[in-house]
Amino acid sequence: MQRIAIVLLNNKGTETAKLIQQQLKDEVVIWGLEDRVDSADKSFKETGAHLKELFENGITIIGLCASGILIRSLAPILNNKRKEPPLLSVSDDGALVVPLLGGLTGANELAKEISRITSGIPAITASGARHFALQLEAPPENYVLANPEDAKRISSDILNGKSLQLDGHANWLEDSTLPFTLDGEITLRVSVFDETPPTNGLLYHPKSILIEIENEETTLDDIDTACKELGISKQAIAAIATNKTGPMFCAKKLASLLKVPVRIVENYSELAIVRRAKVAEAKDLSLIELKSPPEINYLGKAIGKVTVIGLGPGKESWLTPEVKQALEQAEILVGYKTYVDMVPVRVGQQRLASDNRVELDRAKDALDLANQGHNVVVVSSGDPGIFAMASAVLEAIDKNPVRWQNIDFKVCPGLSAMQGAASLTGAPLGHDFAVISLSDIRKPFDIIEKRLIASAKSDMVIAIYNPASKTRREQVLRMKELLLEHKAAETNVLLAKNVGRKGEQTHFTSLAELDTDMIDMRTMIIIGSSKTKIIKGPNQTELLYTPRDYD
Ligand code: SAH
Repeated sequence: MQRIAIVLLNNKGTETAKLIQQQLKDEVVIWGLEDRVDSADKSFKETGAHLKELFENGITIIGLCASGILIRSLAPILNNKRKEPPLLSVSDDGALVVPLLGGLTGANELAKEISRITSGIPAITASGARHFALQLEAPPENYVLANPEDAKRISSDILNGKSLQLDGHANWLEDSTLPFTLDGEITLRVSVFDETPPTNGLLYHPKSILIEIENEETTLDDIDTACKELGISKQAIAAIATNKTGPMFCAKKLASLLKVPVRIVENYSELAIVRRAKVAEAKDLSLIELKSPPEINYLGKAIGKVTVIGLGPGKESWLTPEVKQALEQAEILVGYKTYVDMVPVRVGQQRLASDNRVELDRAKDALDLANQGHNVVVVSSGDPGIFAMASAVLEAIDKNPVRWQNIDFKVCPGLSAMQGAASLTGAPLGHDFAVISLSDIRKPFDIIEKRLIASAKSDMVIAIYNPASKTRREQVLRMKELLLEHKAAETNVLLAKNVGRKGEQTHFTSLAELDTDMIDMRTMIIIGSSKTKIIKGPNQTELLYTPRDYD
């Protein structure tokens, strides 16, 4: 599924934009120029900078504006034809659809699809795409062109009228309007074999070979040997296949070396197999040739994945690119409802929101879904490793390591509430600090007391998470009492509420004057050391900071 941005510079194209958004199957966001466009999903301020950002992030752009604007904005950054996302210019009434860039990444096909939606005309200028409904240098994903350097010459020979023949089978070539004859001068060959491309033609490898491995000792050399022995090109490998209890560790390693996926295949009888071959010198591995290159997502199952991500305190610009990408690719989101609700809804993505108290069950559910082959993202606020879901998932794994041994697991960090709070007010965490959760749900309060006293005695800054809830009020009162025994009454204290969210508030006070009624579960507290001070910053703002030197 591709990500598409429709870019509007005024209200004229709104209707066309909405029509395209509704009808395309992909994830489409309508972006409108601030103050000029009234109804868009998101807005931007600078057209040129915004277009560049989208383009550099590989997002398909449909500009409902003059092509000149798009060309001038992006010209300085065009350098890699094979990597560029499609860029299309569409007239505001949808009548003209012009693919400008990304001919090799689907721009022409998208132009045709949009023009069907808007009843417009696709202005296709690429000769291959125009005359034969395909581009020889850009085969479908499950084919590889072995001699791309010859594609331009061969395409122009065909356009100039040279006859051609097809040697082998490939639907995308057979379904095109290429004028194949039985004995053409140019040959388009489709073959899994590692052979020299035809002198006057192109060689395509269909990715229709599965490497089935049976033990953890299989090496890349074994695969090389088997392919060589059978004459198969390694470019024709579609996937490493294994079964549910197979050598997963080895499968993953080989797959990453070969840059192909691992697929878990239990039932080979569902596949159209041409032949299955074993080579004596290559230990316990079989080469399986399928009749045609499979749609890889439908071949067996993927290895499931659990990614635990941190959304940061709440502000979108504080989200890391890695987290954004994980959220985009997730099949299923799992998490506490408040946090799942912070993630924009995506078509086709399942959301399993649960109550705050059931972390371990939620973690097990996520792991079980990954066991079924799903890509699961577990959502936390702030950083997932700080009083959050990453530990819950690992606790589940720790209790039952065998059950989830085959899935992939990853933690993507996020900005923690204390970092957000500190940044709003200066640099209170500029020297040593302790981080303590006041919640006694998972630890006895006397441990919390000991830690508060130890941090206070060692004159550390203390960042307090989970200070209170509606019903849990006594801990924060006790904290104040204890800290006043070991710290000066005038110690600076920061209360930061809803950091990076609606209702964001910061409040400076002192330990003696700390009003605990102001504190709720969306508040974090930073209690200064003896050195933490408030200064007057630029524009008369009050800033809180802890110097880097101690004396
Ligand atoms: N993983 C989170 C912490 C979760 S514990 C992180 O790294 O930030 C929940 C506590 O974190 C809350 O009770 C509150 O004390 C603090 N917190 C989380 N988000 C906050 C926010 N946006 N503003 C202020 N405090 C926040």
